[in-house]
Amino acid sequence: MADAADIYQIAELRRWSEATAAIIPPLRLAVCGDPVAHSASPPMHNAALAHCGIDARYTRLHLRAEELTEAFSLLPGCGFIGVNCTIPHKPATLSLVHEVDLSARLAGGVNTVRVREDGRLEGFSTDGPGLSRAVREQFGTGLGDLRVAVLGAGGGAGRAVAMQCASEGSPRVALINRTLEKLVPLRTEMMGEFEKCSVEVVGFELDALEAQLAESDLVINCTALGMKPTDPTPIPAGMLRAQHLVLDTIYTAARTPLMCAADTVGARSANGLSMLLHQGALSFEIWFGREAPVEVMRTALLAAQQGVAA
Ligand code: NAP
Repeated sequence: MADAADIYQIAELRRWSEATAAIIPPLRLAVCGDPVAHSASPPMHNAALAHCGIDARYTRLHLRAEELTEAFSLLPGCGFIGVNCTIPHKPATLSLVHEVDLSARLAGGVNTVRVREDGRLEGFSTDGPGLSRAVREQFGTGLGDLRVAVLGAGGGAGRAVAMQCASEGSPRVALINRTLEKLVPLRTEMMGEFEKCSVEVVGFELDALEAQLAESDLVINCTALGMKPTDPTPIPAGMLRAQHLVLDTIYTAARTPLMCAADTVGARSANGLSMLLHQGALSFEIWFGREAPVEVMRTALLAAQQGVAA
């Protein structure tokens, strides 16, 4: 949980130099969200900035949806290098930046904004590329070699993950979602962008789900199920097989219900911490045009997750 002093609002952004005059290094990066106190990005990025000797600090901006347009217009004048966007601002940010990178267009939202020297804003998404790096790190293989089942493909993270799989040449992507209507336009878009990708669309009906999992190597959970310790697994535990690789994008628990289910059949699994880390590293690379100190960021992230001041 962040200190109240570490969370700024639109009123302070309007008088930024005065409101933050005493803060050294200057606040020049932030995560924007509503809520934003839970974000683990500040300790991770501040460790990277300090390690690299960059004269900037990363903070939190609590912005409501109706404040975003004004806030983004203020960023260049306040000396910002960039910002990250989190729930619920990623889709809206697409239309608030001057230039949209392909990564953001495919993801349907912006999670990283770079403020150029001329004051123009560029929008990127590191959700999909961060997932890709995490899969390679955790399982030693690339998305292009894996048939993937995306649970919760109708959500923001699910869409970004599904598009990333298709863009890297996954031979088969199964889109699975509780609300089926959300998947039809996504499937059409994926097949329009990536002609060779085979895309299946199913709900959580047991027979259909079982058939899709039998044709998948990697199962990625992008549903919100698992954020609470009392949550059920998003799919029945008995559907997993020892040969499945299981990545749960949830990072608030070391072992999520889905990972526990994977344990029972001897399948390899990982939580979403590695995805979060690599998304952050990619944002750092976008802002500074240099490699991010990934191990420094990982240590800070783990310390923050364990509630230790980092
Ligand atoms: P979102 O846009 O609100 O999407 C939520 C998804 O969860 C939807 O597909 C929704 O299905 C599904 N869902 C919610 N409750 C469900 C239930 N009871 N049963 C089945 N499906 C359910 O949220 P998001 O931004 O995509 O985030 C989703 C998850 O991804 C979160 O757990 C978040 O922690 C994780 N995430 C992790 C990272 C990382 O770096 N590790 C980054 C981004 C997100 P419907 O469409 O049917 O409502």
